[in-house]
Amino acid sequence: MSVETACKPPASLSVDFDNKWAYLRAAGRRDWESASSYLPIAAERMVDLLGELDLPLTVFVVGRDLRRDSDVQAIESFRSLKEVEYANHSMNHLPWMHTMEDQEIYDEISLTHDAMVSALGFYPRGFRGPGFSCPDEVLRVLAKLDYAYDASIFPTSVAPIARAVFLARTKLKGEQKERAKKLYGGFAAMRNPNRPFRRRIDAGQLWEIPVTVMPLIRTPIHFSYFTFLASVSKLAARTYLSNAFRLCRWTGTTPSLLLHPPDVLGREDDADMAYFPGMKLPRADKLELVRWALRLYARTFHVQTMIDQLRLLRSIR
Ligand SMILES: [Zn+2]
Repeated sequence: MSVETACKPPASLSVDFDNKWAYLRAAGRRDWESASSYLPIAAERMVDLLGELDLPLTVFVVGRDLRRDSDVQAIESFRSLKEVEYANHSMNHLPWMHTMEDQEIYDEISLTHDAMVSALGFYPRGFRGPGFSCPDEVLRVLAKLDYAYDASIFPTSVAPIARAVFLARTKLKGEQKERAKKLYGGFAAMRNPNRPFRRRIDAGQLWEIPVTVMPLIRTPIHFSYFTFLASVSKLAARTYLSNAFRLCRWTGTTPSLLLHPPDVLGREDDADMAYFPGMKLPRADKLELVRWALRLYARTFHVQTMIDQLRLLRSIR
């Protein structure tokens, strides 16, 4: 490790590699199952961008996307980065794990685990629940499968607002809409720490690595929120993110930030995604903004995969 790297606080970078079908289903579109995949194009752009900046990545994989060869190849292409870790993002990306029976939760996690081992030859050690849903049973299953960390907590103060916006925009109806009412963890999510912490699960132990929010005021700072802000004002978004990183350093918060595929897609790329926040920007603008944000992240912190961030935290605590 260079002297410069050693002086920087640890941080991690991940992508929730959600495919278009997951977004369309969440929006209540009936034709979600026949949606085309944008994983190959998203992977190509992310690999180019992160390769250029020499950044590592943790890729949260949805089990259902391991059924098509072209999607598996897209997921495999991240191996060309300097460091990659694959992690579990459930089988069907249902954002209401808190309403599932225990067996269903077990299947969502363990079947994805097995599919990742067989398709990628990789044993995942981390999990993030879709929609930042994290019931106790998820944690018990992760401990049983000997996972090192969960990353499903999003301790933001805007969860109730985000959920209200989601419910207003979606066409979900009936039971699914009822289930979606607990999305983003509700007010309780904000009581969680904004930094990695240890959890005791029955006899075992598990780390929690929350998606970092702005210290003190707890507003989101991940890249989709940044590009959404930038669609209103680029200057305001850049100032906001710079301040967030500064505040993380001042408060000793070791950040974990995430990307989503739409972060590298512009409005000309996919008309189906037009409803997603930040999708009003043209592709070139979006890529330029995300490149700027990632470069600043790498300059401010020692960015690693999540499992490497955890190893470092374990060694210093
Ligand atoms: Zn997701």
